[in-house]
Amino acid sequence: MRAALLDEPGRPLRIADVPEPEGGMLLRVHACGVCRTDLHLRDGELEPGHLPLILGHQIVATDEDGRRVGVPWLAWTCGVCEYCVAGRENLCRRARFTGRDVDGGYAEYAVADERFCFPLPDGMSDLEIAPLLCGGLIGHRALRLAGDGARLGLYGFGAAAHIICQVAVHEGRRVFAFTRAGDDDAQRLARDLGAEWAGDGRPPEPLDAAIIFAPAGELVPLALRAVAPGGTVVCAGIHMSDIPSFPYRDLWEERVLRSVANLTRADAEEFLALAPQVPVRTTVTAFALDQAEEALDRLRAGRIEGAAVIDLRR
Ligand SMILES: [Zn+2]
Ligand SMILES: [Zn+2]
Repeated sequence: MRAALLDEPGRPLRIADVPEPEGGMLLRVHACGVCRTDLHLRDGELEPGHLPLILGHQIVATDEDGRRVGVPWLAWTCGVCEYCVAGRENLCRRARFTGRDVDGGYAEYAVADERFCFPLPDGMSDLEIAPLLCGGLIGHRALRLAGDGARLGLYGFGAAAHIICQVAVHEGRRVFAFTRAGDDDAQRLARDLGAEWAGDGRPPEPLDAAIIFAPAGELVPLALRAVAPGGTVVCAGIHMSDIPSFPYRDLWEERVLRSVANLTRADAEEFLALAPQVPVRTTVTAFALDQAEEALDRLRAGRIEGAAVIDLRR
């Protein structure tokens, strides 16, 4: 099969013919969403589980019976550790992750543990539904951990934020979207999806909560200053540049700063049931498998509107 291989962090992905994978449920990949985590692995900011590695953990595929399934980031958990037993398998100490420890979906075929795959709702194409499998699932976990406040800030308006904005508006919240300075396309997309404000400076009023999707630590003090007393700031990414020091008064008055890690299978079931009710619509830019490196380049440069998806059907 054809696959895009990461031979070594820092080097471009290489398209190669490799044997079909073994050791699980065999899946024909139709589409695979491109996540910023893939870029962190490509650039050496996160450590790959093995090399060469096939990236990609937002896999839309069909199994041998022709059933359409989704494969998310969480590939396997131990089931017996204190976290697994407590319903917090996202924190399992022995968890394995798709596209990091297990080869992922930048390939024509993949294998997965059936217990960690999900049937996908109808009504969205393979390309459109792929970004729900990480941006949607982990974004929704971040939204729940942000609390029920009405005024929600989203820092970084890419794949995850453009999905979560729709969910938040559906829940009756007011969304304030923060983008890079002058990113008119992202600001327009945010307004189109129901954000009442989009910009790069201070929001027009204090927020109840903020979710930081961009991997930029300098946004943490800015977001803390943008939330009202008692507000929550959630860091939703797996990697972030160092957070600059900030005065304690920016955290005081019971502001909360926390991160989100991975997902549980319950998160996936909950979000995949919710998405058609919103209904969530995604904006995607498709790339062929041999353009995977270009997709990562454009993501790094902030030149993707909505979500990038690898289309394995062409
Ligand atoms: Zn465990
Ligand atoms: Zn991801």
